[in-house]
Amino acid sequence: MSIDLTPDPRVADLAARTAAFVRTVAAPEEERLAGVASAGGEELRLSLQQAAREAGVFAPHVSTAYGGHGLDMRDRAVVFEEAGWSLFGPLALNIAAPDEGNMHLLEAVATAEQKERYLKPLAEGTVRSCFAMTEPSPGAGSDPAALSTTATPTTGGWLVNGRKWFITGADGAAYTICMARTSGQPGDRGGATMFLIDAGTPGLRIDRHIDTLDEGFFGGHCELAFADVFVSEDSVLGAVDKGFEYAQVRLAPARLTHCMRWLGIARHAQEIAVDRAAERRIFGSRLGDLGMVQAMVADSEIDIAASRLLIWQACAELDEGRSAAQSSSIAKTFVAEAVGRVVDRSLQICGALGISGDTLLSRYHREVRPFRIYDGPSETHRWAIAKRRLRQARATGTMPAVTEERAVHA
Ligand SMILES: Cc1cc2nc3c(=O)[nH]c(=O)nc-3n(C[C@H](O)[C@H](O)[C@H](O)COP(=O)(O)OP(=O)(O)OC[C@H]3O[C@@H](n4cnc5c(N)ncnc54)[C@H](O)[C@@H]3O)c2cc1C
Repeated sequence: MSIDLTPDPRVADLAARTAAFVRTVAAPEEERLAGVASAGGEELRLSLQQAAREAGVFAPHVSTAYGGHGLDMRDRAVVFEEAGWSLFGPLALNIAAPDEGNMHLLEAVATAEQKERYLKPLAEGTVRSCFAMTEPSPGAGSDPAALSTTATPTTGGWLVNGRKWFITGADGAAYTICMARTSGQPGDRGGATMFLIDAGTPGLRIDRHIDTLDEGFFGGHCELAFADVFVSEDSVLGAVDKGFEYAQVRLAPARLTHCMRWLGIARHAQEIAVDRAAERRIFGSRLGDLGMVQAMVADSEIDIAASRLLIWQACAELDEGRSAAQSSSIAKTFVAEAVGRVVDRSLQICGALGISGDTLLSRYHREVRPFRIYDGPSETHRWAIAKRRLRQARATGTMPAVTEERAVHA
């Protein structure tokens, strides 16, 4: 088996142009607004996206039919990492969450009419969107089967009732992709359906912006109420009761693209720390000549390199049409924690400067921490990784069933 990790020349060229664009156009804006894109408003989003279009780096993930570059997952990994070097890079390229994951889902599942109405303007950057799955307790969170929002049939369509929270980008989104239960009870593993619900539909309310540690996502993290929201039959995305299957279409790639973008931030944090270690003098030497600082720099290099390869492996499986359930869980868990470690070490190397607003490190620290929770908390992924491994052991006869049950629930 030969492993060639060299990107295709077309992708290498796009990645190089993306890196140059992000450093010269997106990063100065990020510095100016201390990493909070919403402070620049819709005007900033539109102007960054126009600049990305002119630089030929806009929408690398979308198919060429919708004006993108049509990159597969492996190629996205190379380009998204460069875009992620600045918090504003993904916004400029129209590959920020949740829009990027929604475009992927719509390309895979939507009808031709739905693509024209919802995917096209999203891919062009003229609108934003959101994805509404998580609910306040006792509803869906780590366990999607707890889904409690309901959609009940009515003349000509459905009535949606329920409450969602932590819905990223909801404020200002043109539409919501909402998961609602169309059959069964909370706790059942099936019975979910996805609905495309336009902003302004009667009964759909944004109740509040939830105050969170991070502030980097456009449109905030919102709590939404659905009170007898009428949606027509053609608002169903895909087939009724297939929502959990479609969620998998979105979630595995979306958690990997989050990994790619945050890996870019980890590299940026490491660059800030290395520059500081090279320039700062203490105890008669350069900071970077001190062994414990070198250990931190080395550990971060190891975290960055290992993260990249885990992402690439899971992407290769997805490109080959495999589920990548195990490899994407492994990558997500490792990268979310590794990126946090890299940013934390970088901050430590910079001393008090690191926690100040004079570098972007304190902003990065706040932005990366929630990634250990969304797209599946580390504990949920570890649980799933272990269950799959134990199931495999049982299937190959190396472990009796009773041992697996004890190990999983211990
Ligand atoms: C910044 C941010 C943005 C988000 N954006 C969106 C969005 O746009 N749309 C959306 O639908 N949702 C969004 N979410 C919600 C996110 O998907 C959920 O927070 C996540 O699924 C976890 O659910 P929960 O918060 O209800 O935690 P819970 O389900 O209550 O879990 C709490 C904790 O339990 C532990 N745990 C979980 N599983 C296990 C296990 N098997 N074994 C042991 N311990 C376990 C973990 O430590 C976990 O953190 C966002 C969340 C954040 C923080």
